[in-house]
Amino acid sequence: MLVAAGQGNRLGLGVPKAMMGRGGRPLFLEPLAVLAGLPGVMGGAVVVPPGWEEEAGRWLAPYPSFQAVSGGAQRHDSVWAGLAHRPREAAVVLVHDAARPFLPWEVAETCLREGSRWGGAVASLPAADTMALLGEGDAIEEVPARSRLRLLQTPQAFRASLLEGAHRWFRETRPSLEVTDDVGLVLAYLKAHPEEGGRIVAVQGSFDLRKVTYPEDWAWAQRKGPAFRVGLGYDIHRLVEGRPLFLGGVEIPYDKGLLGHSDADVLCHAVADALLGAAALGDIGQHFPDDDPRFAGASSWHLLQRVAEMVGEAGWEIASVDAVVVAEAPRLQPYRQAMAEEMARAMGTLPSQVAVKATTHEGMGPQGRGEAISAQAVALLVRKQEGAMG
Ligand code: MG
Repeated sequence: MLVAAGQGNRLGLGVPKAMMGRGGRPLFLEPLAVLAGLPGVMGGAVVVPPGWEEEAGRWLAPYPSFQAVSGGAQRHDSVWAGLAHRPREAAVVLVHDAARPFLPWEVAETCLREGSRWGGAVASLPAADTMALLGEGDAIEEVPARSRLRLLQTPQAFRASLLEGAHRWFRETRPSLEVTDDVGLVLAYLKAHPEEGGRIVAVQGSFDLRKVTYPEDWAWAQRKGPAFRVGLGYDIHRLVEGRPLFLGGVEIPYDKGLLGHSDADVLCHAVADALLGAAALGDIGQHFPDDDPRFAGASSWHLLQRVAEMVGEAGWEIASVDAVVVAEAPRLQPYRQAMAEEMARAMGTLPSQVAVKATTHEGMGPQGRGEAISAQAVALLVRKQEGAMG
């Protein structure tokens, strides 16, 4: 099992395609999540441009049977590099482009099954347009029957011995042969070695396997998936003497304040976590660690501002935020509007998109005894209509 992430294709962003992605996550994670979840999949390699192995490796932490491997100058070099890291006991190898992020699991499963049965199988689509073979001076030489034409995508699955044999043959004896994918390479090998006795069959691909090649493809990829996301945030901090009390970016007169590494504004923290959660960008502890001296005494209003920027960079717009603060004292009702306005300013929304409510804890628990203040928040994000080009 192998994900050939391809390389060299930079889509004008200065970042290899495999390593950029939606929500700040590399593109290759989308098909990888599908492949890693298929029954029988043992593991494999994610081939990335040299220099990106470490960063890719960090993203691969949830997939211990997959490793990041440095690719080569051409596609076949990258596949060869990946093949060297395939699980030795794997009978079938699947090659997939990271630039085709939306992999339907049925297509991957069909490729694996049919590839194992016949020798090779490739996801494909019928040609909607008439196609022509060109000759000298762009003169049309031939118009093949459309019913026999297929557009080839990835995944492409092969018996491991066949794919490895074909690549070895290619590298040792035919390095100048022009091939654009593994189907072309294995087909040339099978023609030169009919005794291998395999064939490559075309199986049903998917329009979702569109390759992210041009800026409009990137915009399409950004729009794929759910249009709305919801997130939940919760935080609690201890109330102590000798600290100012900040809630929602507003300093509230009181004889105690919240204890924490930053200004300990629980409301900003809960809202920031709701935003990060909705965008699947982790949590504030991860982005602003409480043992990092840079965030000592940090204004949580600024952390919230930064989180809202991150959410925007990941392609989301904040539709609404609703929060509730649980505090026995002081009385927060008079500050509700100011807190909503301050947080709206940090997030770049209208105050009407932000609601802050306050309640007591009826004397129960640490909030009720006045030992702590907690906050909960939900955030709704809407996918931006046009994918930002970085
Ligand atoms: Mg906190």
